[in-house]
Amino acid sequence: YVLHRSSSPATAEQRAEILANPVFGHYFVDHQVLAEHDGQSWGNHRIEAMGTWQVHPAAAVYHYGQEIFEGLKAYRREDGSVWLFRPEANAARFARSAERLCMPPLPVEDFVSGVRQLVALEADWVPDAAGEQSLYIRPFMVASEPYLGVRPAKGYTFSVIASPVGAYYDEPVTLWLTPDYTRAAPGGTGEAKCGGNYAASLAAANQAEANGCGQVLWTDGAERKYIEECGTMNFMFITSDGELVTPELNGSILPGITRDSLLKLAPLHGLTPVEARVSVEALFDGVQSGQIVEALACGTAAVVTPIVGFKAPGGIHHVVRDGRPGPITRELRKHLVDIQYGRAEDPFGWTQ
Ligand code: PMP
Repeated sequence: YVLHRSSSPATAEQRAEILANPVFGHYFVDHQVLAEHDGQSWGNHRIEAMGTWQVHPAAAVYHYGQEIFEGLKAYRREDGSVWLFRPEANAARFARSAERLCMPPLPVEDFVSGVRQLVALEADWVPDAAGEQSLYIRPFMVASEPYLGVRPAKGYTFSVIASPVGAYYDEPVTLWLTPDYTRAAPGGTGEAKCGGNYAASLAAANQAEANGCGQVLWTDGAERKYIEECGTMNFMFITSDGELVTPELNGSILPGITRDSLLKLAPLHGLTPVEARVSVEALFDGVQSGQIVEALACGTAAVVTPIVGFKAPGGIHHVVRDGRPGPITRELRKHLVDIQYGRAEDPFGWTQ
């Protein structure tokens, strides 16, 4: 990526003021990564000043939602160094999402080097580790060809932007089993990280909130019988037999990198990782009987969120054990966060 430096970056004072209270997603680093695909190949790889784009109103992304994105973080360690966590996994998922949306895959090296160059350039924007602060990195790709026909566009823009994220609060949540909405259907785009999935999820999130719940418990789009995910995170629970159970990938579940990491860490905590089809009925029965002792949601943003209950229409409310975050959930979360911030050994070589 060729660097064209911003002529008006934030001053050290402005940056310090923002980093004192970095409200997620509101503030951005001084530069953005850009590259374009002209229907033949990727080119014009560059880094330039953060700012608005000129996009033709007929660009396909505005009309048919041909868009994909990723989310990962840069972490500052106690010695001041800045680290990434499994960026190649995000790059690989980005390429799979591109394929599903008929977009040109970006080579893994272009993805990772764009992220690395931006983070190196903007290292001053990575907050310190206190309270699990970090720099959230958002790579994305949009169809930019101005053409109103419905077909894969012949022009695309890839970009990476980044936003500092402040202290994290470990709020436990209750999940809402929506009777009205599903997130993804068999044969649909559930396992791709495309914008349309998120637009389609907003109504259910509103409904969860109206019912006093923090997130939606998504079921499968065919029978609405099986658990898939919760909110924008993957779902897991822990049984009294020491199993860490999560719904198996079936095409409509997003293959989370946190999910994969926790499954790999599980044996180090004496847990057996299990990927299986889990029905709502079995989940609620297990919670009622006490066979399910803890539940959690996992994803890059909050890492691990304890789940303390489930609500469904008709006044149904199941509480997981004593309704408080579980100790194994906390232990798993701490282990992963400690690897990310370099406070624990990195047994799988995930950090760079
Ligand atoms: N499911 C959905 C629908 C998501 O948007 C995310 C966030 N990318 C996840 C799960 C968790 O994925 P990851 O652990 O890679 O952040």
